[in-house]
Order: sequence, then C-alpha cells, then structure tokens
Amino acid sequence: MSDKKVNTSILIPSDLLPKDGRFGSGPSKVRPEAVEALMLRASDYLGTSHRQKTVKSVVGSLRKGLSELFELPDGYEVILGNGGATFFWDTAVFSLIQNKSQHLSFGEFSSKFAASAKAAPFLEDPIVIKSDPGTHPVAMPDSSVDVYGLTHNETSTGVSMAITRPEGATGLVVVDATSAAGALYVDPQEFDCYYFAPQKAFSSDGGLWLALMSPQGIERAKKVTSSERYVPPALDLGIAIDNSLLDQTYNTPALATIFLMDNQVQWMLENGGMNFTTARCARSASILYNWAEASDFATPFVEDVAMRSNVVATIDFSDEIDAMAVAGILRANGIVDTEPYRKLGRNQLRIALFPSIDPADVEALTASIDFVVSKL
Ligand SMILES: *Cc1c(COP(=O)(O)O)cnc(C)c1O
Repeated sequence: MSDKKVNTSILIPSDLLPKDGRFGSGPSKVRPEAVEALMLRASDYLGTSHRQKTVKSVVGSLRKGLSELFELPDGYEVILGNGGATFFWDTAVFSLIQNKSQHLSFGEFSSKFAASAKAAPFLEDPIVIKSDPGTHPVAMPDSSVDVYGLTHNETSTGVSMAITRPEGATGLVVVDATSAAGALYVDPQEFDCYYFAPQKAFSSDGGLWLALMSPQGIERAKKVTSSERYVPPALDLGIAIDNSLLDQTYNTPALATIFLMDNQVQWMLENGGMNFTTARCARSASILYNWAEASDFATPFVEDVAMRSNVVATIDFSDEIDAMAVAGILRANGIVDTEPYRKLGRNQLRIALFPSIDPADVEALTASIDFVVSKL
C-alpha cells in the first residue's frame, strides 16, 4: 500500500490543526520551553566538564527529581549510563541475570531482551512466555528464575500492563519502562530495576539509560559483576552504580540530553508529579479511544480495555481507508509520526499520548483525521 502516491493536496484548515503536530512514540515531542532553558545555559553548561560541579549538579538534580517523582523508598537509587534502553538489555544480561530469566514477550521491544538473554553463552536458556500482539501474557512464579523481565508498556502494539511481583517470586523484577516511565503509575515496591530512556515521556533525546534500583537489585548487580563472569566495563552495572552515586557516568554523556530531561522532570514535579502526568495521559487516551469507538472507520486495536495504553495508542482503520495514506497527508500538514509500527503490519495509526502532549492537541488531531478521511 505504501507505493501509492500520497495525495498531499488535501489542506487541513488551520483552525482544526493541533498547535504542536508531534505525536511520535520516540523520539517524542520536546517542550520548546525546555529548549529555551537550554539556550540560556549555552555558554556556562554546554561544553563544560562532566566531572565538575556545574554538570554534576544537573545530574544530581535529575537523580533527586526522579527519586521524588517516583517516591522511591529508602535505599532505592537512580542509576544512569550511556547507550539507551537497548544497551541496558545487554547490561542486565551481563550484570543482573545470575542463571536464568523469565520474559514476557508481546511485541517487538519485549522480545528483544528475551533474545539477548537467550544468546548469552553463560546463561541457561530463558523461559519466554508469549502472547498475541494486542494482548500481554502473565508472569509465572518459578523458583529456578532469578530475573523476571517485564515490560510496562509495549510501544510497538500499544499494550500496557500493571507492574506487580509474581506471587511469592524470589527473583528480581526487572522492568523495561522506556515508554511508560513518568506517564503510567508504578509502585516501586513492585520492582527491583525499572529502566528507561529519556526520549519518550521524558521529552529529551536518546542515548542514555536510567534505572531505578531497589537495594536487592543493587546487591545483585554488585554480586554478579564481582563474580567469575567476564563483564565488559561498559556493561558493568556495578561500575555504573559507583559513578551514579557520585552524580557522574562511566564515560562522557550527552549534556544536552541530561539538561532537557532534568527540565522535564522539574516540569512534571511543579505540576503535581505522577498524579499530574498520569491524569493528563489518561485524559488524552480517553479523548482518542472514545473518538475511535464512536467513529465508523476507526477502532482501538487493543480489544481489552484494561490493556489499552494511556501513552501509546494504536488505532485500526477499516479496509477502505488506507492508514498510511492518512498518515502521509497528516505529515504534509505538519502532523508527524502517526505512522504504524512497521513490523506490526496493520492498517493503523500509532499515536503517542506522552505528558508533554496537550490533550487539546489530541482532540484537534481527531478532528484533523476526520477531515482528511472526509476528503479521501
Ligand atoms: C523505545 C523503546 C526501547 C528502545 O529504546 P532505545 O533508547 O532506542 O534503545 C526499548 N523498549 C521500549 C519499551 C521502548 O519503547
């Protein structure tokens, strides 16, 4: 369907358009106010040493801000390093899994951590519990498992799941929260390691990973990385922990990324923290899903309402409407990145509803889509 020529002559009236047309699931909308704040630090923060106080204080502010945002219990620490969430999968394989892991696999991202664990010659084959795209499986307590790999929000399909420890489980709960963190509620008592990258709900750029770690998680990382196993230093979570506690990273981080993320965390806190962000995303989600439910050409892809994500929505289109063509026309009108996740292969739009996105813009997006479809 993609070789059809996009009809770019459809002009959406400006009063229907969202004020900001960025609906991508990552990199996602960066608030212009954060970029302006960065501009003001163009000559005393950017281009200065990450081992000195100026930068370390921003890293410290980010760590403290995340700790407040998630209301981390005593003993939990905010750890960070370079490489993004993908890099953290390998970090977890080398530094957190002792023998054997269990993974819930229900889309492109959740399947990847499982694949990394399977490929590691020093680990037993993982247990992988799968479910169809558009649903999520449930973890099974298993005494042979020392890490449960969960995903809070499967960005490729728009499915989210509540994070809870499998009943009676002794293994660590290690959660990929890349697109969920800061936008969906989580109780820190339910995880040992909750990791994410800054380019989704935190409206910054990619390339960094952050992990909220429980005392048990930290203890495991120290134990595994000081064992006989060879652990490359860049994948050594023990080294990352030592550096993070000093408000540093093992090697040079992107200073702009850290600044923008800290600005976003402070913005979230000033507006009411997780109550603010989760409510705002829920409002955007209800606008979009209610519109799709009422539409005669659009339907939410995720059937089970409890699994529908409040941060990344997938909306199926009926056969006679080519969703890719609609996304192309939206793009020509400045509404970008609503294209479906390619590997899912469905006739749908995927729309991010992160905290930075104004619910009023989601409303305007639905009006814009209705306009485009009426002109096809
Ligand atoms: C975006 C995403 C990733 C990959 O993040 P990178 O920082 O690009 O490595 C991993 N997991 C989930 C759930 C994501 O949404």
